[in-house]
Amino acid sequence: MLLRGRLAAAAAAATGRHLCIRGFLRISPLGAVALHTQRHHIATDAVDPLSRVRNLGIIAHIDAGKTTTTERMLHYAGFTRTIGDVDDGDTIMDYLPAERERGITIQSAAITFGWRDHQLHLIDTPGHVDFTVEVERAMRVLDGAVTIVDAVSGVQAQTKTVWAQASRYQIPRIIFVNKMDRDGAHWRRSVRDIEAKLSARPLVLMIPEYGGGERLEGAALERWLDVVTMERVVFDIAADKTGATVRREELELGDAGFAAAAAAREQLVEALAEIDQPIVDVFLGDDVDGDHLRVPAAELRAAIRRATLSSQASPVLLGASFRNIGVQPLLDAIIDYLPAPTDRPSALAKVDPKDKHAVIADDRLVAFAFKVIVDQQRGPMVFVRVYSGTLDARMTLVNGTQGGIKERATKLLQMYADTPEEIGSIACGHIGVVLGLKQTKTGDTLLHPQHASLKSSKPSNKKKTLVDDTAAVGLQLHGIDVPPPVFFCAVEADSPQDVRPLTEALANMTLEDPSLHITQDEETGQTLLSGMGELHLEVVRDRMLKDLKINASFGQMRVSYREMPGHDATAEFVYAKEIAGKSVKAAMRVTVAPIADSAANAVDVDIPESLMDEPSGGGGSQRDAVQTAIAEGVRSALYRGTLLGFPVAHTRVRVSDVQFFGDEVSTPAAYRACAGQAFFQALKLSSPQLLEPIARTTILCPESHIGSVLSDLNGVRKGRVLSLDDSDAESLDSTNATKVLVAEVPLSTMVGYSSALRSLTAGSATFSMEVTGFGPMTAQQQQQVLKESLGYC
Ligand code: GDP
Ligand code: MG
Repeated sequence: MLLRGRLAAAAAAATGRHLCIRGFLRISPLGAVALHTQRHHIATDAVDPLSRVRNLGIIAHIDAGKTTTTERMLHYAGFTRTIGDVDDGDTIMDYLPAERERGITIQSAAITFGWRDHQLHLIDTPGHVDFTVEVERAMRVLDGAVTIVDAVSGVQAQTKTVWAQASRYQIPRIIFVNKMDRDGAHWRRSVRDIEAKLSARPLVLMIPEYGGGERLEGAALERWLDVVTMERVVFDIAADKTGATVRREELELGDAGFAAAAAAREQLVEALAEIDQPIVDVFLGDDVDGDHLRVPAAELRAAIRRATLSSQASPVLLGASFRNIGVQPLLDAIIDYLPAPTDRPSALAKVDPKDKHAVIADDRLVAFAFKVIVDQQRGPMVFVRVYSGTLDARMTLVNGTQGGIKERATKLLQMYADTPEEIGSIACGHIGVVLGLKQTKTGDTLLHPQHASLKSSKPSNKKKTLVDDTAAVGLQLHGIDVPPPVFFCAVEADSPQDVRPLTEALANMTLEDPSLHITQDEETGQTLLSGMGELHLEVVRDRMLKDLKINASFGQMRVSYREMPGHDATAEFVYAKEIAGKSVKAAMRVTVAPIADSAANAVDVDIPESLMDEPSGGGGSQRDAVQTAIAEGVRSALYRGTLLGFPVAHTRVRVSDVQFFGDEVSTPAAYRACAGQAFFQALKLSSPQLLEPIARTTILCPESHIGSVLSDLNGVRKGRVLSLDDSDAESLDSTNATKVLVAEVPLSTMVGYSSALRSLTAGSATFSMEVTGFGPMTAQQQQQVLKESLGYC
């Protein structure tokens, strides 16, 4: 206990920061954990402090036990006295009332705690498909992740989605097979599932002492076998039901479980040997001489770490976090196997390859704002990860993404869920919260005011009035990919006094959530809110009405369509205007054409070499500027089609015959405006069509109800069934096996599906839905939608 405190203080001193002070003041008597700390103690003086930092996330299918596991981690780290349970609605991580009510985690919260002399920044990620942007923004700043799999249901649909997302970001992962206490829990089957469905190479590090794969009734849950150390691990629930007491006993030949552990160790060594040469050398060396049992634990750990960091394999741990079993070994594995910021490729190398400033060597501050939460008292809280330099309190920051606006940090915080602690600086590699920034959005890059990349890219004064002043300057870290919105609804203040609070609340929510969009319907003057799904907008509505107490009415939830040219069409456009006493002029020809096979738009801008005489040494930069301005003009026009103002998709835009009327007149702004208007003309001439979102829906349903679900899907919902299989989650009740139905359905017919499905199946079915694309509508349907939206057609 004392030892833990002292180690933590040493770590804090080494990083020059307060480390989890609050946690350690509240520490509960965790004797066994202290022992743990001693066992794995890493000398603090010799090591780079950054190597003792872990930025990690927990990713899983909803209900796999993410929140429950996190709560246990915080408890064992000495942070909370009592263990909160999701079912009681009192957990620390799910702190928004909307989340507590739903029992799911919606907003990522970054939380800091200590374990074994390391500092962990844990980013909670939501499991619901409507919140993929939340997952995405978290991935962007993670160095490693824990994936939780339910031991009964195995690898579920959403786990596959987030696993693929993590692969895209090359994030090393550990797998925790949870709910090992449940009837039907089967760890061998879970491991096979991991291999088959995630195409991962599992390295099983701990197995239950009861042997076999399936947990049979009455099998002891407290006794486990550590394959790496060949020890028995006992979670002494009888001594302390929070599971804080963990005992380790060396396994002796002849002990029950010795043979099982030895077999598992052999498998582990073999799996490692396939991908890691150093472990082969150890294995064949004189000391080990081909005996799996004699491979030293430290060598195994090192090999597991190498395999994990290179994403060639994932360690698998087992437990039941709800029963307080298995969480400390998971925490140990996070330290032992997940990367420190120093183990990861530099994010600075990940800037846009087109960005010439990427190579600038400057170790001053570069930070990435990965999340904004607008707190009622504190104002916007900007969660950042520092990639270079140090962020000090009261520092002026340049927001490179938003044209170089300057904002001053007033305070820095470290978050313990919703409880902050003020800190003096956020060091490189760390995550923290900046207060005082009013305009910073999720995905922005923040720079030191003297950062070298700013000097070379500062727009000159002359250009400044003409270029879009939100254009990015300086070094840019990759932003966050935000998928286009598919649902929208109108929102209206209840009375004139309510307009301002509503407008402010909406502005704050868009700062927080880049997947939430607010637009004004030009014809009706209505404010429209659009987002990723019905649940997404419901959560926004609940937050506005219940948490923020805004008096407003929300209209019917509707799907968001796309617009596409019906056929090729061309327009020629001359843009000529007086702006601030100066005349500006540009002209070009724009052709639009439908693309059948890809939803993405393509924009080609063709500017002949001879168009403009470059000023001496211009090096083509003026042509580049025109090219960029035209492409920007077209791209922003693509956001609003000409039928109902929905975004344009499946469209190829070609710009040609660009004309130049001299430096002073043909400014980038003129080209930008001209491109937009020429595009609108061409689109109008192309008999544009509406496209509707198509959702891929996966329904898990007991066989007894599948008939009514199918007839509803095929009937009123106009769905197309793609497959109908038995679930591989082996149902215990063989008379009523679970079926998995996958169908493609127009999203418009799926509004309110969760309650419909509940009544069709007496609450026994679950479903998930993901918009996979946009499909054509019949002329009749299109007329119907136009009529509903415009009141005429
Ligand atoms: P999340 O959606 O991934 O955050 O999952 P939660 O932590 O909210 O857990 C979902 C449900 O599973 C809750 O009812 C938990 O009590 C339950 N649960 C979590 N872990 C376990 C476990 O180890 N065993 C059992 N039997 N239930 C668990
Ligand atoms: Mg949760």
